[in-house]
Amino acid sequence: MVASAVLGFPRIGANREVKKAVEAYWAGKITADQLTQAAADVKKTNWTSLKAKGVDYVPSGEFSLYDHVLDHSAAFNVIPKRYVGQGLTPLDVYFAMGRGRQADGVDVPASEMKKWFDSNYHFVVPEFSEETDFKLNFNKAIEEYKEAQALGIETRPVVLGPVSFLVLGKASKDAKPDFQPLSLLPNLLPVYKQLLADLKTAGAEWVQLDEPVLVLDKAASYEKEYTSAYSELSAVAPKILLTTYFGRLDSNLNFVAKLPIAGLHIDLDRAPGQLDEVIVAVKPTNIVLSLGLVSGRNIWKTDFQAALKLGQKAVDALGQDRVIVATSSSLLHIPVTLDSEKKLTPQQKDWLSFALEKAQEVSVLAKALSSSQEANVSYALKANEESISRRREFERTSDDAVRKRVAAITPEMHERKSPFAVRKEVQKKHIELPKFPTTTIGSFPQTKEIRNARAKYTKGEITEEQYEDFLKKEIESVVRFQETVGLDLLVHGEPERNDMVQYFGEQLNGFVFTQNGWVQSYGSRYVRPPIIVSDVSRPGPITVKWSSYAQSVTKFPMKGMLTGPVTILNWSFPRADVSRELQSKQLALALRDEVIDLEKAGIHAVQVDEPAIREGLPLRRVDWDAYLKWAVDSFKLATAGVSDALQTHSHFCYSDFDDIFPSIQRLDADVISIEASKSDMKLITTFKHYGYSNNIGPGVYDIHSPRVPGDQEIRDRLKAMLEILPDSLLFVNPDCGLKTRGWKETEASLKNLVSAARWARQHY
Ligand code: GLN
Ligand code: ZN
Repeated sequence: MVASAVLGFPRIGANREVKKAVEAYWAGKITADQLTQAAADVKKTNWTSLKAKGVDYVPSGEFSLYDHVLDHSAAFNVIPKRYVGQGLTPLDVYFAMGRGRQADGVDVPASEMKKWFDSNYHFVVPEFSEETDFKLNFNKAIEEYKEAQALGIETRPVVLGPVSFLVLGKASKDAKPDFQPLSLLPNLLPVYKQLLADLKTAGAEWVQLDEPVLVLDKAASYEKEYTSAYSELSAVAPKILLTTYFGRLDSNLNFVAKLPIAGLHIDLDRAPGQLDEVIVAVKPTNIVLSLGLVSGRNIWKTDFQAALKLGQKAVDALGQDRVIVATSSSLLHIPVTLDSEKKLTPQQKDWLSFALEKAQEVSVLAKALSSSQEANVSYALKANEESISRRREFERTSDDAVRKRVAAITPEMHERKSPFAVRKEVQKKHIELPKFPTTTIGSFPQTKEIRNARAKYTKGEITEEQYEDFLKKEIESVVRFQETVGLDLLVHGEPERNDMVQYFGEQLNGFVFTQNGWVQSYGSRYVRPPIIVSDVSRPGPITVKWSSYAQSVTKFPMKGMLTGPVTILNWSFPRADVSRELQSKQLALALRDEVIDLEKAGIHAVQVDEPAIREGLPLRRVDWDAYLKWAVDSFKLATAGVSDALQTHSHFCYSDFDDIFPSIQRLDADVISIEASKSDMKLITTFKHYGYSNNIGPGVYDIHSPRVPGDQEIRDRLKAMLEILPDSLLFVNPDCGLKTRGWKETEASLKNLVSAARWARQHY
């Protein structure tokens, strides 16, 4: 029999129960025990509903209150010194590592976060040094395994594999210069052995060890580490299912197929082409092959016929008992269930599948491959075939005008009229800015009042006019605030936006939205990605009204604020029937019209945020050039339709630009702001190394934490930056938007920022 499996399930709760509980705990409104109880309720619901959907291998241990990588760091005692000895409970140390802590005399910043492979999920980066003292502080895998067992549910525990855990981490500040986290593998393995041996004793038949690093080029040099780790672990562990996802194994398959593992999972959603070679490689072994046929990354209904074709190939080669049908990755990246969607039309719902529905899909596919004669299986197959053909029919009805416009894009449309050196002079006359201009990245605190007004408007409890009046007042007060604090280049504060991507999706043709389709982005921050279902176009101006209103109430220059094409694409669920490139170009053309309209409306600067360019980079280097070509072209297409006088800005978060710098240069934005407060000047050094000559605003403090940076702290940071960068290029700004912050800390932080910039003006 072919079995079915889910690699991981969303851990936020169908109604965001975990966010609510975690935030209530942070606010001191519930106790740690109440938090544990709330988490237990969500886990129980997840396990029982997966069981009810007929999934054979239900995951446990992948649940998290903040982040699964952070869970491992806490469990393995990978706790940076700054969090130790502060009198915090282990739970509070855990949260302090995730989000920083500033209360009761404790003042520690958060650890660095990074994007989880090419997704929009952020993990907390483990910090290692020669002194890392691995210990099994607690065994979360076993606790959750037993928790499920007590409910009568047998699960397959999920643990991040030791090589990936180390490779995803970084060397801490006190490590020696050449220190490589992977060198700690021999010290880490005993802890893994203990954890896995305990799982075996507790009765777990299988354990899922995630080694997503295996789909990266660099894994090719870890053969030795993988081989020694897995031979040690397999001696004591339950049967090991080694899982890879988000890409293809390529040449790494050569050593992976030789590892002493009982099962191997591959992602056939992202890389269906690897099936043949994987079958050949595992056939002579006893390895069970887990086929990631149901996408954990998109929300489209699985095309059963296509999936069964791949599945049948594996069954023919290996036999039913050596094949598992699984989700391609954890379902963490998609919403919990379509059931909560009351506003999507029946036609739209018919196209889609969320986590619970995908669980059902793996179960049906496994039964179909086991030649099940069950009536409900043949019914499900037939229903799926009909849905898929209805969707194909819809896809054929594209927007002809949009397609023609994309086909007519010329090379000249990507370039500004003059080079930066010329533009810079023109812009000096148009925007009056001092040396070290201070600005923000766009959003200001999204307060309860703003959210309430939006909710009331959505529910029809206030009129459009009332809502707009409210927003105007909000904008005016944010403008006054910036004037008072002393910022130079102002923004309108984005109060009209529920989310930087969703908002634009809502104003464009071609998108649909969920009511409850939340996906975890980091910690307790969830987003609701829009879904691109057809060709994209702009029915009319989107932000012009707000930016021009903001400009009308101040004499200071105003910066318009847009989300870029690649970011809208990456943070939406894209169509699966046309290329990402085509969707990106359609978005770029829509935004190009918006940038032109903003200039016409008298706005002097426009920022087009592209924080997702880096994360959208393919995981394999051979695929980079093609992606970077269309991604950078899309940004240029969106921003090059204006005169030299318009100062274009772009913004990136958490980006490592080392290896793609020429593309960052090719964007040719007049000003680019980047996250730099946590990356120890490494990023800025890259800019210097490449002789970057446009303006640059390296973030001077971390906004992902409520902690207020001191005036001196910001001066020190500026000093350090100015040792690297020429003073003529530097803008001074926080490292991202302020929407998740409260007003109190925003005011205190920005005052310090302005005062540090004034200090710099006097000293440089
Ligand atoms: N302009 C956006 C904001 O300030 C940018 C956010 C981002 O890059 N993530 O909220
Ligand atoms: Zn940002």
